[in-house]
Amino acid sequence: MKIVQIQKQSLIEYPGKISAVIFLAGCPLRCPWCYVPRLVLPERIKELKPIPEKEIFSFLKERKGFLDAASITGGEPTLNPELPEFMKKHRCHDVVCIEYNKLTLEQEFEAWFKYVMGW
Ligand code: SF4
Repeated sequence: MKIVQIQKQSLIEYPGKISAVIFLAGCPLRCPWCYVPRLVLPERIKELKPIPEKEIFSFLKERKGFLDAASITGGEPTLNPELPEFMKKHRCHDVVCIEYNKLTLEQEFEAWFKYVMGW
């Protein structure tokens, strides 16, 4: 899983909440309107320096009282098999929003959430 950017705060990713936005690289689609080609095209992704998970968790922990949520986006974040484990480790906020392109099957997505929530 390659985390390549964190936006410290956003009011639009998760309407009604202040969230940090975590960007993961990689997406199998090539939408002509894509606004993040640097997170999609392999030759552009290679140029991006990964941010260690530890750094992300430390940032989120520091902002615990200020941020309501963490939004995870891409690229296509659900392509990363490590994402459920990442979310499970992330205990700073009760709310995590995932923006995805529906390539991941609903059943698979549901299984993830059950795993993350410990249901
Ligand atoms: S699904 Fe999203 S990230 Fe992927 S190519 Fe389309 S617009 Fe870009």
